[in-house]
Amino acid sequence: MKEIFCGDYSVYIGNEAFDLLEKYITQNDFSTLVLIADQQTYTYCFDYFRNRVPAAQNCVIYTFPPGEKSKTLATCTDIWNFLSEQKTDRDALVINLGGGVVTDLGGFVAATYQRGIKYINIPTSLLAKVDASVGGKTGVDFNGLKNQIGVIKNPEMVLIDSQFLKTLPQAELHSGIAEVLKHGLISASNYWSEVTAKKLGYDSDWDTIVYQSVVIKNAIVTQDSNEQNIRKHLNFGHTLGHAIESYCMLAQNRTPILRGHAVAIGMVLACYLSGKYFGFSEKVQSELLSVYYDYYPPTPFSAEEVQQILELMKYDKKNRKGVAQFVLLKDIGKPVLDCEVEESAIKEAFAYFNEIKKPEL
Ligand code: NAD
Repeated sequence: MKEIFCGDYSVYIGNEAFDLLEKYITQNDFSTLVLIADQQTYTYCFDYFRNRVPAAQNCVIYTFPPGEKSKTLATCTDIWNFLSEQKTDRDALVINLGGGVVTDLGGFVAATYQRGIKYINIPTSLLAKVDASVGGKTGVDFNGLKNQIGVIKNPEMVLIDSQFLKTLPQAELHSGIAEVLKHGLISASNYWSEVTAKKLGYDSDWDTIVYQSVVIKNAIVTQDSNEQNIRKHLNFGHTLGHAIESYCMLAQNRTPILRGHAVAIGMVLACYLSGKYFGFSEKVQSELLSVYYDYYPPTPFSAEEVQQILELMKYDKKNRKGVAQFVLLKDIGKPVLDCEVEESAIKEAFAYFNEIKKPEL
C-alpha cells in the first residue's frame, strides 16, 4: 500500500487500504456510519466495499441518480433530511463511495451538516482518483453554474483501490485519462513518456499511474493552497476545454461530450498555442495528437461554432477583467501563467485541430 501525505490527511492507494478503514472504524466509536453513493456506484461498488470492510456492515445508505444533474442543493437537502431522520449526530462518519459527483456532494453535505462531521472518500472513477482526491474542494452546482456553492474541507482519509475501475464505463475511463496526460505535460517528461508509451486501458497498472498523478497534484496544491500561483498550472487545457464542454451541452445540433474529452481538445489547442507563442516542441504536439486519437474521436468545430465557444469563454470564472487567461507551455513541466491569447490565434488553433488526423510517429 502506498501513502501520500496531503497536509492533515492521507491518500492510501492499494487493496490493503480497506484494512486500514476497517481498523479506523473499529477503533473509533462512531455513532452512525452513513454511506453515500449514486445508484450506479452502489450497484457496482458496494458489495466489494462491504466484503472488504465488515465493520461497515450496519451503515445506513443514501443513494441518488448518477450524473452531474444530481449535483444540486436539492440532493443535499434530501440527504440532510435523511441524516436528520436517522438522528445522525456530530459523532457520525460519512463514507462517500463514487465518482467526483459523489465525493464533491457527499463532502459538502458532511462539511455542513451540524457545522461539520467527519467524512472519508472512496473515489471509484479515474477522474475522482487522480483529481478530486486532493485539494479538499467540496460543493454543488447552482443556477446552471458548476461548483458555485461549496467549501474547502479535507476528508479524514482517501482510499483508492484500482479494482473499482474494472466496472467503470470505457468513455469515463478515457475521460479520466485526460487529467493523467495533463499531469504529465505540466510537470514531468518521464511521467509523460510513461503514460504515452502505450495505450492505457483496463489492464494498465493503475495503482502506479494514480499514485504518480496524485503525487503531482498534491505537490502543486500543497505549495499553493489559495490558488494564487502554481495551482493555476492545473488549469492547462481547461480554459478552452470548459467552453467546449458547455458549448456541446448547450448547442442543439451537438451531443454533450465528457469533461475529459473536452479538456483533451483544450490541451491540443493549448499545445498548438504554446508552439506559436513559446516555441513548444512540435514533437510533443504530435505525441499529444496521437494519444488524443487513441481515446477520443475526431471532433471538428465550424467557424460559427468556434465563435460561440469564444463567447462562452468570456464567462470563465478564472478570467481577469473579462479577458481569458491561458496556461501555456514552454516545455513539458514548464508552464507559463496568465497568457492573454488573441482570438485570431485561437481560431488558427481550431483550424489546426480540425485538419490534422492521427499523426504517424
Ligand atoms: P461522476 O461522479 O458522475 O461519475 C461518472 C459516471 O461513472 C457516473 O455515472 C458514475 O455512476 C459512474 N461510475 C463511477 N465509478 C464507477 C465504477 N467504479 N463502476 C461503474 N460506474 C462508475 O463523474 P466523475 O467524472 O467521476 O467526476 C466529475 C465530477 O467531479 C464533476 O462534478 C467535477 O466538478 C468533480 N471534480 C471535482 C474535483 C475536486 O477537486 N473536488 C476535481 C475534478 C472533478
